Amino acid sequence: MNCKGVIRELSSYIDGDLDLPMKQELERHLGHCEDCTMIVDQTKKTVEIFCDSEPVALPSDVHVRLHEALRRRMEEKPN
Ligand SMILES: [Zn+2]
Repeated sequence: MNCKGVIRELSSYIDGDLDLPMKQELERHLGHCEDCTMIVDQTKKTVEIFCDSEPVALPSDVHVRLHEALRRRMEEKPN
């Protein structure tokens, strides 16, 4: 799995919806990619903040917006 794959599966990963093989692949990538580790950490924190202030599940549009923001961030990377 590459960085784009991680971004694509990020919401499912954080929700715990990812299949085990996929989850393992993603975590293997996180083991050697600091950028993705940081993005996952930040996203988890963001989700936790949302959950603190809002007891119901994250609205799907928040997921979409988060995804878009992360994708833009990945595309801005020079490599
Ligand atoms: Zn990566």
